[in-house]
Amino acid sequence: MQYEGKVYRPWPEANSLLIQTTLGCTHNKCTFCDMFREKRFRVRKIEEIFRDIDEARQMYPYIRSIFLIDGNVLALKTEFLLKILERIAATFPEYSKIALYAGLNDLRRKSVKALKHLKQAGLTLAYTGLESGDRVTLERIKKGVTPEQAEAGMAKAKAAGIEVLVSIIFGIGGKERSREHIVETTRLLNRMQPEQIAPMALTIQPGTGLEKQIETGEFIQATPLQILEEEKYLLEYLSDFDTIYWGDHANNIVSSRGRLPASRDLFLGKIGHAISNHPVTEQEVLLTSPW
Ligand code: SF4
Repeated sequence: MQYEGKVYRPWPEANSLLIQTTLGCTHNKCTFCDMFREKRFRVRKIEEIFRDIDEARQMYPYIRSIFLIDGNVLALKTEFLLKILERIAATFPEYSKIALYAGLNDLRRKSVKALKHLKQAGLTLAYTGLESGDRVTLERIKKGVTPEQAEAGMAKAKAAGIEVLVSIIFGIGGKERSREHIVETTRLLNRMQPEQIAPMALTIQPGTGLEKQIETGEFIQATPLQILEEEKYLLEYLSDFDTIYWGDHANNIVSSRGRLPASRDLFLGKIGHAISNHPVTEQEVLLTSPW
């Protein structure tokens, strides 16, 4: 199988077969992201994708889950994507899940009818990056999506029956905008009600625009205590819709994974314990107020 350049997949897809369908990301401007900086977006030839699918069949007798990479695969023309999904379904009849990366704007730009076709052809889950529900933060990080556009994309996915995982980033508002970031993010998530939420704490990738903003003092990182307070706020104020919470990204200070709202008290207990006892926050807890 041919993979070109650095390959990324979300951590819940650790056991999935990765099929590279696009190279890079159509947006490629987010200040915190270095995933596809070295790649110009392009679509792989359908014959190459089919060849990878066929080779994977020869290598693996049982494939339950497939993940399509690289960035925003849903930007592909619907007819093209349908061909890939149909080939996957025919080649791996045992599969139970096909997921891909999608921009919330990619969902918004497709018609519900087109999304329904994709769902019927096997697409089950779209991984989307919201990062923040705060308009100012979204503009600062050059995310290229507004809260209204994110909500519209989510609504179309729901109408088509495609599940959506929404990732957000603790600390992406920086020290100064920590509270606005998490308040607005929680508010937007309550409106969107995604089937899955994946929060992760910000790390600064070398060579990114965000790293330069830190060097110039334009962006001051949130403290570990603020990161924990953001997660606490999120868990306290998410409304009672059913969702899977993937709070176990390696960047996170506290690791929590499970269903909400059922596990809310358990996760809040862990956060509260970390705020009181974690070595990275202990001093701050004594000396500062997080917001
Ligand atoms: S965060 Fe997503 S949309 Fe933004 S540049 Fe990276 S891959 Fe593209």
